[in-house]
Amino acid sequence: MANVVVVGAQWGDEGKGKIVDWLSERADVIARFQGGHNAGHTLVVGNQVYKLSLLPSGIVRGKLSVIGNGVVLDPWALMEEIARLEGQGVRITPENLMIAENAPLILPLHGELDRARESSTAVAKIGTTGRGIGPAYEDKVGRRAIRVADLFDPATVAQRIERLLTHHNALRRGLGLPEVDATDLQARLEEIAPKLRPYAAPVWKVLNEARRAGKRILFEGAQGSLLDVDFGTYPYVTSSTTLAGQAATGTGLGPSAAGFVLGIVKAYTTRVGEGPFAAELHDEIGEHLRTVGHERGTVTGRNRRCGWFDAVLVRQTCALSGVNGIALTKMDVLDGLSELKICVAYDLDGERLDYLPTAADAQARCKPIYETIEGWNSSTAGARSWADLPAQAIKYVRRIEELIQCPVALVSTSPERDDTILVTDPFAD
Ligand code: IMP
Repeated sequence: MANVVVVGAQWGDEGKGKIVDWLSERADVIARFQGGHNAGHTLVVGNQVYKLSLLPSGIVRGKLSVIGNGVVLDPWALMEEIARLEGQGVRITPENLMIAENAPLILPLHGELDRARESSTAVAKIGTTGRGIGPAYEDKVGRRAIRVADLFDPATVAQRIERLLTHHNALRRGLGLPEVDATDLQARLEEIAPKLRPYAAPVWKVLNEARRAGKRILFEGAQGSLLDVDFGTYPYVTSSTTLAGQAATGTGLGPSAAGFVLGIVKAYTTRVGEGPFAAELHDEIGEHLRTVGHERGTVTGRNRRCGWFDAVLVRQTCALSGVNGIALTKMDVLDGLSELKICVAYDLDGERLDYLPTAADAQARCKPIYETIEGWNSSTAGARSWADLPAQAIKYVRRIEELIQCPVALVSTSPERDDTILVTDPFAD
């Protein structure tokens, strides 16, 4: 039975929420495998708009939704999100939400450290979401994290807190932050533990059993491939592995569980936060993309930086995740532009490059080499078949496929789930 891994193939905000929601109708289980509540997925179902940060999108459809061990979990943010969605009529129970017992926690001290570093003038800003994601992953690999399963034994919590605070209070003294009191932290964790406990489960086992029973699993990636901690525009990246390979280790299923890898690709490029962005536009076309595309962050409310489609980057990220097909989103934002540009290569100090170099200073010096394509006047919004698209829009899609060396599996033409052109069914066996 085919499983599907969905990953963002740019810098995040490619429109994964709608595509995951569209696919989740035919999936049995939806699993998050990395990131945390730095993600922001917007789902439009009928006249309801759901905003999700940490919960897998399948929760809205009543599907079994799991948060894997690759995620960093802020239990307070989770409880708030559950309460908000329940207020919108979504039922969330231990039957449809399971959280990996080995997922590390994000604590208030992680958010404080993240924000203190970002506001320090001594180091260059990354432009993080300030949610404590980086510090929580640091503690995970530093072997001092408190994990979900630890919460249910007070003696273990006390030991973990001691180890954690030895590290953090030294850091906090250096940053001029007040020290964290072990008793206060323990009290906060003891208060939240019983609320989390019903959802804690050996997710790796549940997923392996589901797989053996022939259930369809949908792996929901967050952020985007260019924010990957290894292959992204380091250091301007998030702290998790955002590529498709993480779907396996971030849930406890082997790599063979990933069937079809679907890369979500926006018809132009955006990024939030700092870092190189060769095809960025600082003119009225950039403003057009921002306004028409509503390019404002769902988590932080920041304006997104906007630019032309960068085929060099997407070719690279499709290779890195082994993408089988892409879902192209937000084509309608380009409606009415007389001329479109696609970045097809970079000029690095006079040399033509067909890939993004690794060194940060070289990335920053890359100048886009553009190919110009005629635009279209009519609307692509709401199209549900190729016949509904203007000829020039189809040419644009075909040129993208050629340049990124990967076929289009889906085209999304509005936030509405049914406004989708299906070319290849990712769930087909
Ligand atoms: P962090 O994940 O909060 O540490 O932020 C690191 C970088 O990833 C920053 O540039 C953020 O703007 C970016 N980032 C994190 N989550 C998202 C997301 O869901 N969409 C887009 N960018 C994100």
